[in-house]
Amino acid sequence: MGEFIKMAVSPVIQVGGSLFTAEQLAKIGTLTDSNAKIEMTSFKQLYVQVPVDRQDAIKEELEIAGLEVNPAGFVTKALIACNFCKGEETAGLETALVLNEAIAGIETPTPMKIGYAGCALGTSEPLVKDIGVVKMRDTFDIYVGGEPKGIKASLAKLLCTGVTKEQLVHVIITIIDFYKEHAKGKEKFSKFVDRMTLERLQEIAA
Ligand code: SF4
Repeated sequence: MGEFIKMAVSPVIQVGGSLFTAEQLAKIGTLTDSNAKIEMTSFKQLYVQVPVDRQDAIKEELEIAGLEVNPAGFVTKALIACNFCKGEETAGLETALVLNEAIAGIETPTPMKIGYAGCALGTSEPLVKDIGVVKMRDTFDIYVGGEPKGIKASLAKLLCTGVTKEQLVHVIITIIDFYKEHAKGKEKFSKFVDRMTLERLQEIAA
């Protein structure tokens, strides 16, 4: 039996949320073996098991079908965005797409989830993500260190406020790079934030 690999498949970020078309779901079905495992993750990606020797061809076909394909495992997940119910412009869809392009699939010490909400109602739950971005009128607030798991679950803390859309990607990539450089082994990001302190991270992000 050949080797298999998991790839993380998701629809593009759009108004309305994580919407697959019937054609896209059919495409996933036709490109995978009948006994392949297809897992719905908690972070809005499907983990699709594919043969290693066909991964490039399958990735290309899924992308042609309009799907986004990223590595699975110890990487930043695709941006977990809200449904943009306040509209493309008001909720900042364009900024979310740029941010997703910049952050999805970066190798990290542990898997990282980055959330985006188009307003302070935060229906995509950005404060229980490793990094949460909330659009506040024309600028963005960034939160770090949310921990949704376990009996010591905790909310992310406010890292910085008033971040412009031009600054947003740079600030988040800077934090991810700092985590990659200074994490102890497979230290979870929430623990890393506690160890480093919020004040230190604020200096790094500034
Ligand atoms: S976070 Fe705001 S804009 Fe986004 S879906 Fe929720 S209410 Fe709508």
